[in-house]
Amino acid sequence: MRTEHDLQAILRRIDGRGYKAYKDIQGSYRFSRYMLHIDHVQGDPFAAPSRLRIQISQTTSQFPESLFRSPSRKIALEDYVTRLFHRAIETVVKGHRGSGKSGRIQIDHCGQEILDRTAVFITQQQVEVRCTAGLPAAGRRVLSREAEAMLFRELPEIITRSLLYTNVDTTAVQKHVEVAEDQHILRESLKTQHLVAFLANGSVLPRRSGVDDRPLRESSTEQVVPFQSPPSLEVEFTLPNRGSVRGMGIPEGITLIVGGGFHGKSTLLSTLECGVYPHIPEDGREYVATLPDACKIRAEDGRRIEGVNITPFITNLPFGKDTAQFCTENASGSTSQAANIMEAVEMGSTLLLIDEDTSATNFMIRDERMQELVAKDKEPITPFVDKVRQLYQDYGVSTVLVMGGSGDYFDVADTVIMMDSYTPHDVTTRVRDIIRQHETRRRKEGGTHFGDIVGRTPQASSFDASRGKREVKIDVKGLHTLLYGTTSLDFSGLEQLVDISQTRAIGDIILYYSRKYAGREYSLRQGLEQLFAELESRGLDMLSPRKLGNYAVPRLFEVAAAINRMRTLKCRGRK
Ligand code: ADP
Ligand code: MG
Repeated sequence: MRTEHDLQAILRRIDGRGYKAYKDIQGSYRFSRYMLHIDHVQGDPFAAPSRLRIQISQTTSQFPESLFRSPSRKIALEDYVTRLFHRAIETVVKGHRGSGKSGRIQIDHCGQEILDRTAVFITQQQVEVRCTAGLPAAGRRVLSREAEAMLFRELPEIITRSLLYTNVDTTAVQKHVEVAEDQHILRESLKTQHLVAFLANGSVLPRRSGVDDRPLRESSTEQVVPFQSPPSLEVEFTLPNRGSVRGMGIPEGITLIVGGGFHGKSTLLSTLECGVYPHIPEDGREYVATLPDACKIRAEDGRRIEGVNITPFITNLPFGKDTAQFCTENASGSTSQAANIMEAVEMGSTLLLIDEDTSATNFMIRDERMQELVAKDKEPITPFVDKVRQLYQDYGVSTVLVMGGSGDYFDVADTVIMMDSYTPHDVTTRVRDIIRQHETRRRKEGGTHFGDIVGRTPQASSFDASRGKREVKIDVKGLHTLLYGTTSLDFSGLEQLVDISQTRAIGDIILYYSRKYAGREYSLRQGLEQLFAELESRGLDMLSPRKLGNYAVPRLFEVAAAINRMRTLKCRGRK
């Protein structure tokens, strides 16, 4: 077993040599308190930085088992340690030590959500951390003294600050895991209470800006109105750590969110969208929970659609275009929104979240006067208002819908919440009165049943990941852009994709899926369900032999959505 002294000796030997000489330090070294694995050495100072793993025994680290005894606690503790390591890097690392990425040490970045990542693994035996380091060079020559400063001074200092329990703020870490565990239990309890979402009183929903996901702060110009449930919708949960928590429960069925412009409707809906993930303490949404299978549905014109049955919403297209296996390279607002719904339900979603701001008007409504002018047989679209109830009755799929612009939805809603100056009011009874006084004169167009949800089976040939000489080339260009082989995937319609490390995982999940499940007897849903069961037991490391530290677990729904948007996707049964 090589030791830190061997590493030092190699570094001194290669000083001043060409950058490739760094390859000599690849391997594992025993330091006094931990093992350092240099898994991959970058080819030059400008390439992706070198990959390191640190393994430190729990005899040294001493994180108490109570902090990781359940899966939700373990994920939260690993998340917390990732953040600590990140903070320690910021205080300790000098950063610039030569050309290119020389001197940088990095670990995966965490946002407001607590996600299952591969940056840190904590077990009863040890803590493992995966980070990267830009090995220092002057031009393209090895700078050993700088490398030594990083690996023998900075890294040990980061480890001391973040991986030894004695140096950790015990109250903060305790709170972090407890809040995460409570959220998990809250989310799991929704179904038995026949709720689709819960928002605790006192929650802070608005964010700082469209590009800053932290909670809005009170200032001389901004007033923050904490969330307060209307009495009629108030429910109580008893959580293992926090104890009793009261707030608004949104019941199953169809829920309408109405109210004037700028009164907080969309903010409430986006809070529900990210309520599928746990949030860190002080986020403001740490006692908000939505059913884990909730899917935000929007219009997404321009997307591709492959073989989706959209007949519940769209039939009789011009020139007899098939809508039972609808295909297009360039969807319209309404066809894309129809496909988004059908695909979400195909994958097992039981809650749709829809905002008028991002919907196609002709998909959502068709009023009495328009019905008069344009006969039903000239209009391919059956609007959502005529289908939303059947979706619930036939398939148990609930909908929460922001609709400030049309009262036509009053007739189909079970619950109507009015946002008034950021505070919700239950106006369901009042809406019932209005329905009686102003009876609608529009005709129902939706028939008696919702229609079929048809599972599809992707062909393996859809997933060729090769580019040029490389058999597999998958690159992440940003949260919303994945290059898969020679095709580029656009995820800008996936509002519940929250972390670029999820995007990275999606790329490799698609590859794994294509090799093991595509084109066999499994439908897309069955294949992905089996794949996620595998992920659950084996972890994200099953995706790559390289022990990467920058994966985060995405939801099955985002993986399916990614596949559904592939320009190369072909489903069986089609020519
Ligand atoms: P709507 O969809 O009803 O038009 P939005 O949800 O877009 O309204 O909210 C309008 C603005 O009000 C946004 O800038 C949002 O950040 C802010 N906002 C929403 N909820 C609150 C709140 N509880 N306290 C303070 N500001 C809020
Ligand atoms: Mg809005």
